[in-house]
Amino acid sequence: MSSLSQQAAPNRHQTVCVDIDGVKVGGGHVVRVQSMTNTDTANIDATVAQVAALAGAGSELVRLTVDRDEAARAVPYIREKLLAQNVTVPLIGDFHYIGHKLLADHPACAEALAKFRINPGNVGFKEKRDSQFLSMIELAAKLDKAVRIGVNWGSLDQDLAQSLMDENAKLSEPRSPQDVTREALVQSALGSAERAEQLGLGKDRIVISCKVSEAPELVNVYRLLAERSTYALHLGLTEAGMGDKGIVASTAALSILLSEGIGDTIRVSLTPEPGAAREREVRVAQEILQSLHLRSFSPQVIACPGCGRTTSTSFQELAMDIQNYVRTRMPEWRTAYPGAESLKLAVMGCIVNGPGESKQADIGISLPGTGETPSAPVFVDGEKVATLKGENLAKQFQEMVEAYVQK
Ligand code: SF4
Repeated sequence: MSSLSQQAAPNRHQTVCVDIDGVKVGGGHVVRVQSMTNTDTANIDATVAQVAALAGAGSELVRLTVDRDEAARAVPYIREKLLAQNVTVPLIGDFHYIGHKLLADHPACAEALAKFRINPGNVGFKEKRDSQFLSMIELAAKLDKAVRIGVNWGSLDQDLAQSLMDENAKLSEPRSPQDVTREALVQSALGSAERAEQLGLGKDRIVISCKVSEAPELVNVYRLLAERSTYALHLGLTEAGMGDKGIVASTAALSILLSEGIGDTIRVSLTPEPGAAREREVRVAQEILQSLHLRSFSPQVIACPGCGRTTSTSFQELAMDIQNYVRTRMPEWRTAYPGAESLKLAVMGCIVNGPGESKQADIGISLPGTGETPSAPVFVDGEKVATLKGENLAKQFQEMVEAYVQK
């Protein structure tokens, strides 16, 4: 089998490892995939079902909103029900405004979470809010929980932003407002992380993020963070948008940073489309990492785009069929046949590129195009081993794929 190397980024930015209930983030470990629920956390059954689905799709950490007493009360029950289903994915509580109060009032919630997400823009480290920040950090240190200092463009600490703007205005050559805002984001994250360390939280318990909604700006912000610190970094483009736009924007931004070795855990935030499964954001994140050869999650199915030379829809159907087949079989293959996730399959539409791509894959098939003999050569490890014909060609190819994995 061809192998996709793990952590192929040439110059991985060195960060301190944060162990989140056994999931190691940073310190050279594989880039972790995480996601967030969009259920009302107070709705225990709906949240359990969504966390289980996200974890089943491969999310290694799952965050949920903890916005009020009912949600905080639900968290330990959610954890309990998940454990009863053997779902051990670490849960992260997303806190804003009253996180200090919720954590203090609901100790079972604090215990059930593996990590607290704190937004300095609405809890803050300024003097007037220091006690709130302090109480969350002290609790995290006492319970040995990890913390993400998560700064967001849309809820940036306004006091800090204003003071940097004022200082900038006094300069003989003022920087652009965008440069100053970027500086405010980075200072907010790093200042809060340093404050957390002063308050007793180890560096190995701190992850930071600075989310913005524009891909080029995200790249600028994270380059600055990587230049100035060794905290583990959570990457994500916030408000990335819907459908194709959200996927492309996230992929563009994250790929640049990941290729530069920046980023220890990623979340792809997609605006939900009616009927779309929440797990989609997990699959997109996995595809980004796999396309960059940073991790392998499931066999790669290489399919040509098809063109006027493809004779029928059977080519697209076969490509889709094989893609679905490997996804379905992957949970069992992962356990029974380690390395199966690195398998490379090719499903090609005609003789132009079909045999060539098929030979490069571990196992590949080239369907007949217009004017070609109605047969489909199959290549295994670069050698032609069979020629398939007839109506149950898809089934025959599936059997050959299964046999190859088992071999
Ligand atoms: Fe078209 Fe053949 Fe190329 Fe596929 S391999 S895109 S069918 S020319």
